[in-house]
Amino acid sequence: MAIRVWDYRQEYENERADILDAVETVFNSGWLILGKSVEGFEREFAEYHGAGYCTTVDNGTNAIKLGLEALGVGPGDEVITVSNTAAPTVVAIDGARATPVFVDVREEDFLMDVSQVKDAITPRTKALLPVHLYGQCADMAPLRRLADEHGLKIIEDCAQAHGARHHGEVAGSMGDAAAFSFYPTKVLGAYGDGGAVVTSDPEVDHNMRQLRYYGMETVYYVVRTPGHNSRLDEVQAEILLRKLRRLDAYIEGRRAVARRYAEGLADVAGPGGLILPSVAPGNEHVYYVYVVRHPERDKIIEEMKKYDIELNISYPWPVHTMTGFEHLGYAKGSLPVTERLADEVFSLPMYPALSEDTQELIITSLRDVLSRL
Ligand SMILES: *Cc1c(COP(=O)(O)O)cnc(C)c1O
Repeated sequence: MAIRVWDYRQEYENERADILDAVETVFNSGWLILGKSVEGFEREFAEYHGAGYCTTVDNGTNAIKLGLEALGVGPGDEVITVSNTAAPTVVAIDGARATPVFVDVREEDFLMDVSQVKDAITPRTKALLPVHLYGQCADMAPLRRLADEHGLKIIEDCAQAHGARHHGEVAGSMGDAAAFSFYPTKVLGAYGDGGAVVTSDPEVDHNMRQLRYYGMETVYYVVRTPGHNSRLDEVQAEILLRKLRRLDAYIEGRRAVARRYAEGLADVAGPGGLILPSVAPGNEHVYYVYVVRHPERDKIIEEMKKYDIELNISYPWPVHTMTGFEHLGYAKGSLPVTERLADEVFSLPMYPALSEDTQELIITSLRDVLSRL
């Protein structure tokens, strides 16, 4: 049987009774949209982040888009982010009709190089959008200083970093707002699509609630500023509520998988060859994906297929080189670290229910492939 880079079926088998009970509970409740489960999940998800408010939405892309709009970002505004991210980060900025501005990432940990942000700020800059990539947080203190100095908002892209910590603070509690995705592969994943924005600013949350509900002001049901239809449904909310209570256990499971990879590959890793993930100082990584680097990445992926092991690339094309973003004017070579990483990174299978036996097979196969390069 093929080993997939991500697979939810073992987890479903372990949790089937609870998941199906969640579905039944909602179907029996007589309320399918914006009911008790959405309310309950929003309350507990806000509490998990020590934040006052959470508004759920239909996916992570819309969480970023509506989050930007709720912070007052719109046409003509610039948002500083990275190109070394999932395309939806940038699609969401475009969706808010703002202009993405890219800085490069750091060679060691692939995260936003915050030392480049200052020079990227213009009179049109409205917000900073750090991405907590692969499961660990970008460097937040210097971003906060810059934001305060220049009157900018910060929205964290937490789609890959549920429960990650940065100098003790949980991801999603450090910006003016934070956007989450509950796409099934994520650290907290639904059985379908989902997203949320967490904030401690009541006005931002008020805006979010209107934006996800056509722009309707919920007391009189009138639209002053047209919004969107971007709601999380009750079934996904109830499943997420139950899974949220296991989030810390999922994270422990991911860390155990990461530890076994590190132990099993330490002696074949090194400069110029296989490079294992490194954790930035102050970070507690949640390993959404386990991303390694090798100059002969494509060959390794091909060879591993012979062992029936699927590897993945996050991400093979830097966003600024995609045709859809050519108009932004970033030439090839303008973000050298991002472009180099795109040629070398790949990810090993990662999910909490990955068994030790399967992982052993992945490690020995990869060692085999590396020894024959
Ligand atoms: C998954 C992801 C998104 C988008 O989330 P969806 O729920 O798929 O819309 C945005 N940003 C990052 C970094 C992601 O990994």
